Amino acid sequence: MSLDAGAGSGPSFALSEDQEFLRETVRRFAEERIQPGTFERDVRHEFPLEIIQELGELGLCGMMINEEYGGTGIDAVSYCIAIEELARVCPSVAVTLSVTNSVACWPIWQFGNEELKRGPLTEMASGECLGAFALTEPGSGSDVAAMRTTAVRDGDSWVLNGEKAWITNAGRARYYVALAKTDPEGGKRSISAFVVPADTPGCAVGTPEQKLGLRASTTAPVLFEDCRIPASSLLGEEGKGMSIALATLGHSRLGIAAQAVGIHQRAVELAVEYAAERVQFGVPIARHQAIQFKIAEMATELAASRLLTHRAAAESHGKEAVKYASEAKLYSSEAANRAVFDSLQIHGGNGFSEEYEISRLYRDARVTTIYEGTSEIQRIVIARSLLR
Ligand SMILES: Cc1cc2nc3c(=O)[nH]c(=O)nc-3n(C[C@H](O)[C@H](O)[C@H](O)COP(=O)(O)OP(=O)(O)OC[C@H]3O[C@@H](n4cnc5c(N)ncnc54)[C@H](O)[C@@H]3O)c2cc1C
Repeated sequence: MSLDAGAGSGPSFALSEDQEFLRETVRRFAEERIQPGTFERDVRHEFPLEIIQELGELGLCGMMINEEYGGTGIDAVSYCIAIEELARVCPSVAVTLSVTNSVACWPIWQFGNEELKRGPLTEMASGECLGAFALTEPGSGSDVAAMRTTAVRDGDSWVLNGEKAWITNAGRARYYVALAKTDPEGGKRSISAFVVPADTPGCAVGTPEQKLGLRASTTAPVLFEDCRIPASSLLGEEGKGMSIALATLGHSRLGIAAQAVGIHQRAVELAVEYAAERVQFGVPIARHQAIQFKIAEMATELAASRLLTHRAAAESHGKEAVKYASEAKLYSSEAANRAVFDSLQIHGGNGFSEEYEISRLYRDARVTTIYEGTSEIQRIVIARSLLR
């Protein structure tokens, strides 16, 4: 998307040819390869391993990472388009990809030493394996500084102990970007970030969560018990983990905003299709103005969500990047939830049946206002940036 004013033509919101091509390519793959089986995978809570591997081969695991480290080096708007198209068909696949791209690859690319970039980053970005981000703990969600996981320096190693909760891709990821305190009694300045290979002795995955939605993605606790990793696994400087986590989330919220846009897009499509088919009082319900108004509202909010998301992506290197990403995530996730609510309402009783796609979307949308910072936390971030 270009926000530049062209000669006399005003700002352009059109996508570039490359971005349009990417949208078509990902949409085709999603419809042909991901859509069949989406219903069954949701019912069985089944992770689509083969599909994720194919997406890796297509270059969708390290989209914003440059080619030197195995990525495809596309811009952030293109990244959002790809995640949106995946989410339109399967929000579970979208979050699996969003996590490995933005909270696993991206912080290593930004803050990692050359060894971490040549090793874990290149393996993940090239699609050879997945990554995950281990920040949340049973007692520390929004309040990151309350974390209890510790990392103690011992010679040439760090030794991690603690429990992480709700980790997307846990059990599927080869690497975790994990946050721990080097001083257990310390505050946020004692938090550091580490790259932990999942097969390190002392690193284990707990029982996967049985989730309301996103059932074809995997979410589980990650446990560290005397988990010894080399000193070179430290990401950035010691004590900078909080700022690394905040920078990472400030960037990765683009992916969740895009996921919400994809869900919202599909909710509108399903509402339009159903309203055209369903006849009540002798006419398709699309002829009733109450239904038309719902659809108009959903479509208008969808456009606003997409524009906010693309602006945040286009400005992701600018000084308002974090605020824009929070605005996009806040608005898009809440609008997507309004959209699935109204789309389900338009489906009447059928919308309450598992047989109808809208019922899965309704469940899948719910978490978008919660993870990678709740809506309340986004409001705090936005207000702070205005009031500082
Ligand atoms: C499906 C799923 C996948 C996830 N994946 C990951 C992952 O890959 N990695 C990871 O680290 N985490 C992950 N999470 C965790 C997620 O990021 C947290 O759930 C989220 O940050 C909220 O933390 P919490 O659940 O502890 O809620 P809490 O922080 O306990 O919040 C509870 C409520 O209180 C509100 N609240 C808290 N503090 C304030 C405040 N100061 N002002 C106003 N309201 C406040 C919150 O907004 C919320 O409504 C995932 C969660 C889910 C559900």
